[in-house]
Amino acid sequence: MALPAALLPPRPWRRAGAVLLCVAALVAAATLPVAAADADRADLARRARADDPQVLAISLDGLNPSVLTRLGRAGLPHLWRMLDEGAWTLEARSQVELTLTLPNHTSMVTGRRVDRRRGGHGVTWNDDRRRPRTVQRAAGHPVSSVFSVVARRGGSTALYSTKTKFSLFPRSWPGAVDRTVIREEDDAAVVAAARADLVAADRDFTFLHLGAADQVGHASGWMSPAYDAAVRRLDHLVGQVLADARREPALADLTVLLTADHGGVPGTRDHADRRRRADYRVPFVAWGAGVAPADVYAINPGYVRPGRRQPDLAGRQPVRNGDVANASLRLLGLPPVPGSLYGKKRPLEVANAA
Ligand SMILES: [Zn+2]
Repeated sequence: MALPAALLPPRPWRRAGAVLLCVAALVAAATLPVAAADADRADLARRARADDPQVLAISLDGLNPSVLTRLGRAGLPHLWRMLDEGAWTLEARSQVELTLTLPNHTSMVTGRRVDRRRGGHGVTWNDDRRRPRTVQRAAGHPVSSVFSVVARRGGSTALYSTKTKFSLFPRSWPGAVDRTVIREEDDAAVVAAARADLVAADRDFTFLHLGAADQVGHASGWMSPAYDAAVRRLDHLVGQVLADARREPALADLTVLLTADHGGVPGTRDHADRRRRADYRVPFVAWGAGVAPADVYAINPGYVRPGRRQPDLAGRQPVRNGDVANASLRLLGLPPVPGSLYGKKRPLEVANAA
């Protein structure tokens, strides 16, 4: 279901962008071979229309961004396409308190830190436990999410994951997650389900968690040959989604955000030491409708580059995986998650195709 148009504020860049892109399309038509010009025109037209915005947030569990530079465009062509065409940084940060899967994903969907005593979501565990039963019970206070904000405005959402512990989310926001598909350690099945639903159901917000890199990292070591192979498989799966986004008229307004919960230390089978750069350094990439190539930090002057550090939560913040919630809502023209921390005053901007 699409969000009611009245809820979507006008976006000046949409109109200005359309004019500029038409000019660009004419120039392209005059200078490129016919097939390339057609593809370019279709792509430009797609980017100029964002009347019914949709967001797909992808988390590649355990993706240490060094693998992107090491394997390069030849090894990871689809992820690199996102970088070449998108707004991105490889210097985003995980949560300060923990570099574990469930706590960081809960931050992605709530926009909150972890520590419940400081307004965080309180999810400190990383397994299938049913006590506490919900994020709210863990926090000891009400906790909204990107799912609940979209649902409250009449939109629809979906969750796809390769780990059963993600059932915490539909338990915590019942009625706000319209479709949940969890296939333990089966990334291909989850992607196939998400692709079909994205085209058929016109979701406003979809969350897609893929676990292969983390799984192989624990079994064989981060940056091992098996880890590289797993990331290549993930690249292929992400490429299928990107191809759909380019081809399917229903996905003309889709913006993809891609990040990770944490990295992992090369040569080890672990990512639990929150003080290690290899654990707290993650990518943050935006691609698709409304997104032009950019350094995310360059277009968000309110955020501060972290250098090699993991800044604490006092003062200006680096881009974090917890920015997913409010960056997504901004793309959808919706207000930030109540009670959130990351980007609540000024959500991370990724739609820069003006
Ligand atoms: Zn792990």
